[in-house]
Amino acid sequence: MTNKIKKMGYKKPSFIENIAEKIGLIPNLHKDNDQEFDQDMRHFTDEEVAQMYENFPPPEKWDNWVEYDPKVWPKKKKTTYQIVPTTCFNCESACGLTAFIDKETQEVKKFEGNPHHPGSRGRNCAKGPATINQITDPDRILFPLKRKGKRGDGQWERVSWDEALDTIATRIRKAIMEKRHNEIAYHVGRPGNEKFMNWILQGWGIDGHNSHTNICSSGARFGYNLWYGYDRPSPDHSNAKFILLISAHLESGHYFNPHAQRIIEGKMKGAKLATMDPRLSNTASMSDYWLPTYPGTEAAVLLAMALIILEEGLYNREYLENWTNWKEYLQARHGDKEVTFENYITAMIAEYKEFTPEFAEKESGVKAETVVEIARLIGEAGERFASHNWRAAGASNLGGWAVARCLHFLTVLTGAVGAKGGTSPNSWNKFKPTQPNPPAPQKVWNELHFPKEYPLAFFEMSQLLPHFLKEGRGKMDVYFSRVFNPVWTYPDGFTWMEMFADESKFGLHAALTPTWNETAFYADFVLPMGLASERHDLNSYATHGGTWIAFRQPVLREAARRNGNPVELTYQANPGEVWEEDEFFIELSWRIDPDGSMGIRKTFESPYRPGEKITIDEYYQYIFERVKGLNETAKADGFTGQFAALEYMKKYGAYEIEKGESYKMNEKLLTEEQLKDSTVDPNNNVIRKNGKDIGVLINDKAMVGFPTPSRKNEFYSQTMVDWKWPEYATPTYIKSHIHNDVLDKSKGEYVLIPTFRLPTLIHSRSGNAKWLVEISNRNPIWMHPDDAAKWGFKTGDLVKMNTDIGYFIDKVWVTQGMKPGTVACSHHIGRWRRPQDKTGNRWATNTVNIESDGKGGWKMNTISGIKPFESDDSDSKRIFWKDGGVHQNITHAVHPDPISGMHTWHQRVRIEKPAPNEKYGDIFVDTNKSHEVYKEWLSWTRPAPGPNGERRPLWFNRAFTPDKTEGGCYYINDDKK
Ligand code: SF4
Repeated sequence: MTNKIKKMGYKKPSFIENIAEKIGLIPNLHKDNDQEFDQDMRHFTDEEVAQMYENFPPPEKWDNWVEYDPKVWPKKKKTTYQIVPTTCFNCESACGLTAFIDKETQEVKKFEGNPHHPGSRGRNCAKGPATINQITDPDRILFPLKRKGKRGDGQWERVSWDEALDTIATRIRKAIMEKRHNEIAYHVGRPGNEKFMNWILQGWGIDGHNSHTNICSSGARFGYNLWYGYDRPSPDHSNAKFILLISAHLESGHYFNPHAQRIIEGKMKGAKLATMDPRLSNTASMSDYWLPTYPGTEAAVLLAMALIILEEGLYNREYLENWTNWKEYLQARHGDKEVTFENYITAMIAEYKEFTPEFAEKESGVKAETVVEIARLIGEAGERFASHNWRAAGASNLGGWAVARCLHFLTVLTGAVGAKGGTSPNSWNKFKPTQPNPPAPQKVWNELHFPKEYPLAFFEMSQLLPHFLKEGRGKMDVYFSRVFNPVWTYPDGFTWMEMFADESKFGLHAALTPTWNETAFYADFVLPMGLASERHDLNSYATHGGTWIAFRQPVLREAARRNGNPVELTYQANPGEVWEEDEFFIELSWRIDPDGSMGIRKTFESPYRPGEKITIDEYYQYIFERVKGLNETAKADGFTGQFAALEYMKKYGAYEIEKGESYKMNEKLLTEEQLKDSTVDPNNNVIRKNGKDIGVLINDKAMVGFPTPSRKNEFYSQTMVDWKWPEYATPTYIKSHIHNDVLDKSKGEYVLIPTFRLPTLIHSRSGNAKWLVEISNRNPIWMHPDDAAKWGFKTGDLVKMNTDIGYFIDKVWVTQGMKPGTVACSHHIGRWRRPQDKTGNRWATNTVNIESDGKGGWKMNTISGIKPFESDDSDSKRIFWKDGGVHQNITHAVHPDPISGMHTWHQRVRIEKPAPNEKYGDIFVDTNKSHEVYKEWLSWTRPAPGPNGERRPLWFNRAFTPDKTEGGCYYINDDKK
């Protein structure tokens, strides 16, 4: 065995492994007697993957598939199924599912993976098959409901879809006619349909999109965007040589199952995996290196690695020279120096000289030699360095966005940007649909979503909406919450409750949701929307170096069609009257503008039958027939006629647009046609045409480049300078709001890490999935034994966690899996309902009492935990767990990063033992204090306008981009300079 092989981690097979490999029980990983990386000996071809699923029913048998019922064995009871593909809805990954529908009863009996889905390739995590729990949950909402009595009282009556639609449409119509466009908003928790809501809301002409992204991922997005104009990474894990994750990515990170399977593939081929996480997550436990950084110090470690790569010459000179804006940097920051590449490297080394491995160790607690070792491994991996940072550090710290920026710095230094085995921009692996009758961008700007104070906020400042309403900045006349539960998921839920209860702040609140949640309790209409197998959506995500689309479809509707009993609308096939957003919003749009006089209806007319309402089949056919290669593939599969592409998608549920050719797309050459009448900026070689940047000259070749002002990776950001943050013009380490320097340990102050998710849970939608709740149903405080000993805690003891605005009382779990000096609490447990609420999520909810003193003081305490209950599901009597955990988020104040706008989740907490009268689950919050904290963080912002009166840099993407015409809503005209 060579030294090189030893270094790559070769492990001699055991006797049992040898035998098992020889007789074919497990794949032979050792057939060439080494795991030399470049031999790619464990590369799974598509055919190999298909072979793994050879026992899955072949598509030609999907209308008539017979299985024996394992539960009655040894009796042989046959069931004949129809198999219909759809897409999982239980995280963003959109893995393929197949629904097994009993042909006799037309009931869905189970869900399995879909081997024809290029992202998930037949595999799912626990949450995919648990979709069956959700659709059979005895507590689900089956019919539209309208509140009786006061909002929040918990009284409801069943109404028709017509009544709900007409009431809401009349109110929206009035608001638009009265030019109150900004009083209409759609606020989404779990999105799922590519561009559908852009089409709807821009069709209405409103700036009405609000999202959950600022409590989720916008910190990381901002950091990536500053570099290269794309806001998410798409790591090519399976071809990587070194993988660095800043999150619990294998278990709960972004694109969980599709990425996890490719990370393991990469590891099986010899890649090394390192994970930065203060908690020994499942991901960290699967890693070659666990780096338990003190929270918020990740950027310091990454910059130390960058310095080593620079000093030791491990960088990719060609990439840095061609694809970073180094000349601009030298001119702006080192005007006294000659503009040479050597001076660029020297200047960068000087810029980061304080980031020694010892400094990184001091800040993070990770040993200096480990930092050096990993930096060298990254440098050696070169272009095959894959990495990801999603929520985690980017979503937790003041300046958390700098973590993604410093991580991408390593990707740039190694030249791994967009390389095979490296990290591409997510947009290169994601499909963009072409929709019928595309509406023009809206001509209004909603400052309740993008206020002047946060001009660089990457997404809507949704966590501040209740504070904006509280201080009278505006109102919401019609507000849709869609699979969105801010009362429970967001920080400061009591302020949300105060605002929801006030009809002068929220005029009409319609909750579009598949299941009861704490926010729906404060709605006027609760409108049941379909789960994964009950709705249409188009999905496409960057799971690997390839591009695919998947089709979420209502499986009973599709089965009915195949059986010759088509229905007109999805709710006619679904349980009860559960509908779907797509048809709901098309119908609502027609009712807002019944005669077409408002100019709204035209967007929602059929592209095939002029003047008629578009059908759901027409909407998707229009998109699918424009997908590269899909018509031809459908034809080759035997589909003919106008709806061939749609029928193909209904049959297989997914389509692979391209397989991993999308590397280095920044090097794509501009065509002669594109270059015609273009000019080249002599300062930076940017190619312009008709006032737009279209590319850049690199070594005399006209290439498309990146969508930044320089068309390159921007080591130096003039944008940050122009928008009043010159101190952050280059990648920087920003000390977090929970840095050790600001915690007073003598007073018991610790950092609470509330950002992790147990891998079997779904944000706030696990409560109707009994299998998932059975596995995970508590959220204790993770505490290292040294800390527990200091406090005298043992597992199960009560602990009082004091936040800036209140406290919650939880139990301690003593574990070596926590970094000493930090504590953690999973954020997906602690669901509740009040005695007056409709029964919902009884597998997971505590019954609580909530009291307000009317002056901002709120108390919650647990009346009872989870109990067995009578229902049609016999399992509901077998519930053995009682502890539903504690709702921690409601005790957190809003902490919006003044630049990215991201809520910074980590909390300074003061730990103490509760008083004898304080009980598990007790919560207290003072919303006056939470408003003060909001104002304090607001005071740190540097408001718009930027250059030329802009509200936001024109080159930054914005969700639902408004009209950018000069002098229009994108500019603050009063303040224009
Ligand atoms: S990772 Fe799990 S929850 Fe997410 S889409 Fe895939 S199967 Fe569903």
